[in-house]
Amino acid sequence: MTDARALAAEYLKQQRLLGGDSVILPTSSPTPDLRPGLENQTARAAPAVLTPGASLPPAGLTFDPPSSDLFAVDPIQQTQSLEDIATLIAACRKCKLCEGRTNTVPGEGPATARLVAIGEGPGRTEDETGRPFVGRAGELLTKILEAIKLPRDQVFICNIVKCRPPENRLPQYDEIAACLPFLYRQLELVKPKVILAMGGTAAQSLLNTKQSLGSLRNQVHRFRDIPVVVTYHPAALLRNPNWKRPTWDDVRIAARLLN
Ligand code: URA
Repeated sequence: MTDARALAAEYLKQQRLLGGDSVILPTSSPTPDLRPGLENQTARAAPAVLTPGASLPPAGLTFDPPSSDLFAVDPIQQTQSLEDIATLIAACRKCKLCEGRTNTVPGEGPATARLVAIGEGPGRTEDETGRPFVGRAGELLTKILEAIKLPRDQVFICNIVKCRPPENRLPQYDEIAACLPFLYRQLELVKPKVILAMGGTAAQSLLNTKQSLGSLRNQVHRFRDIPVVVTYHPAALLRNPNWKRPTWDDVRIAARLLN
């Protein structure tokens, strides 16, 4: 097969993995530009296959919270492994979410992961098992990662809050604030090459902004020095399959930054 045909075949395979139509026409129609101030304009759609060297989306926000210092007395800052952090999370009672939890869900994946994928907070199955993204949304996340040739077990997968909010409501500001230091330390230890923020809660909490998910997509943000790509939450894709296509565009950006 020629290069172009091999790329096209790969693309269609990935689309199938993501649950898209078996044939998706190349992006000849314009897609809305969701950047602030440009909502009513259109941008040229991304090419159907990943073109090496094609330009990345523009730089977005940078958030640079102070990092730990060697002499910090905070136990979170003193942890030296993901397991140590998980132990602290298991004992955490810093917010009211601890009252309803069955298990804490610290996150899982190798400390050497090049990609960290961040969701919102554990759901019922995650609370029951202590593992992130194991329900239906998790199955879809696994497929999304496979589509960019990343086996799930090579990715560190976690959430903004480590305990299940009751009835799957959005985590509240005080709960997020109490839990973020765990995530910051996880990111310090893993030092991923790229972060994928899935959904508004993950993107806004990580980048310390109230901007909408729509306005945060299509840019490469930075958390400390790490590029952050923002996309839809897999649970939102289950409700609205039309978002699979833009999600695919987002994860391809993450893949380009990784490779
Ligand atoms: N949704 C999330 O945000 N996280 C999970 O772990 C599962 C579902």
